[in-house]
Amino acid sequence: MAKNIQAIRGMNDCLPKQTPAWQFVEKHLRQTIASYGYQEIRTPIVESTDLFKRSIGEVTDIVEKEMYTFDDRNGDSLTLRPEGTACAVRAGIQHGLLYNQQQRLWYMGPMFRHERPQKGRYRQFHQFGAEVYGLAGPDIDVEMIMIGARLWKAFGIADKVTLQINSLGSSEARAAYKEVLVEYLKARYEQLDEDSQRRLSSNPLRVLDSKNPQVQAAIADAPKLIDHLDEDSKAHFSIICERLDALGIQYEVNSNLVRGLDYYNRTVFEWVTDLLGAQGTICAGGRYDGLVSQLGGSETPSVGFAMGIERLVLLIEAINPEVSEQPGADIYVTALGDKAQASVMSICEKLRTALPAHKIQMHCGGGNFKKQMKRADASGASIAILLGDDEIDSGMLSVKYLREAREQESMSIEALGSMLAV
Ligand code: ATP
Ligand code: MG
Repeated sequence: MAKNIQAIRGMNDCLPKQTPAWQFVEKHLRQTIASYGYQEIRTPIVESTDLFKRSIGEVTDIVEKEMYTFDDRNGDSLTLRPEGTACAVRAGIQHGLLYNQQQRLWYMGPMFRHERPQKGRYRQFHQFGAEVYGLAGPDIDVEMIMIGARLWKAFGIADKVTLQINSLGSSEARAAYKEVLVEYLKARYEQLDEDSQRRLSSNPLRVLDSKNPQVQAAIADAPKLIDHLDEDSKAHFSIICERLDALGIQYEVNSNLVRGLDYYNRTVFEWVTDLLGAQGTICAGGRYDGLVSQLGGSETPSVGFAMGIERLVLLIEAINPEVSEQPGADIYVTALGDKAQASVMSICEKLRTALPAHKIQMHCGGGNFKKQMKRADASGASIAILLGDDEIDSGMLSVKYLREAREQESMSIEALGSMLAV
């Protein structure tokens, strides 16, 4: 017998039992971001490989080893997008959305990275993100954080996530700091692992990001970037801290937070939880004032964040399991006998018009009363409507309550509509 074909490793199906939690999350994301006046942008899943090489940076994990890159039939090098920021910038420049304008944008969709699959880390995963262009001040950085804080409340996870922030300063300040850091790290070269030794020459800031305890010990007393900031970045950062204090949003300044992508400057932040093991970052973002011009646009201050929806769903399900317990139907309509079978479809249509917010499932495939009631129960519906000759003749519905001890009732479609509308 032929071998069954399986999904690609690290690329998950989202089954009917899981989609309610996803829909819950997606609904709140859409509603919340709209309430801040952001507009949605949708870009293709495939882009020119160069876009990501030029934006994310050649010596980053993503570009070095995680991209799904292939030649198409014309021999052009294409890449499945590993993240959304570069795509938004590309589209913004191409369509003239950024020049001399302010834009508050959001996106949601699948991203692709060839990583080792594990809990909270997949090869196809989904991000929700926001990107703002044309605003240079710290107020919009604070708004990025406020959006997260509001979402965690809506999801009931506010006390499970903490905010870490840092400033990477200007590129000049960072370049000067890099020299100090490299000197410090060179003196401890033997304590670094292979990855960090390599990064020492290619991308020394990333050494600060290492998860290896031995490396962490070696950098414990490393000079801190936050002590080497330029005056403007320092002022920008201290306003953010003041505003967060005033809003009552708690944060921790983590001087080792550098983020894995090259394009960030000044503000960077991550929302982290300790309930998901090593994959604890559910949202990450920061300022990237240089990226638009780096990709051919004019100088445009920019800031954004991206959150991993799988991690968000895992966290919400762990804390609030009822979000995923959603029956497929609210009302199950049975039909016994020829007359009822001939009318059941039009009655269901009338019910859907009267009760647009309800899920109304029509029994198909005939069978006796017992069989139909078994299906009604399995559907998860709380009400079964029983149609037989009597109901068709009288124009009334027999309403049976499946989940409560309550007498069966006879009523019109209108009466059922007003009963369930409240
Ligand atoms: P990590 O340190 O976990 O690898 P990252 O710094 O690579 O994260 P970003 O590029 O900042 O992640 O992406 C933003 C968010 O997207 C992450 O905080 C995480 O929630 C989610 N994310 C990133 N990669 C994956 C993945 N492979 N599977 C699931 N979610 C992911
Ligand atoms: Mg990563």
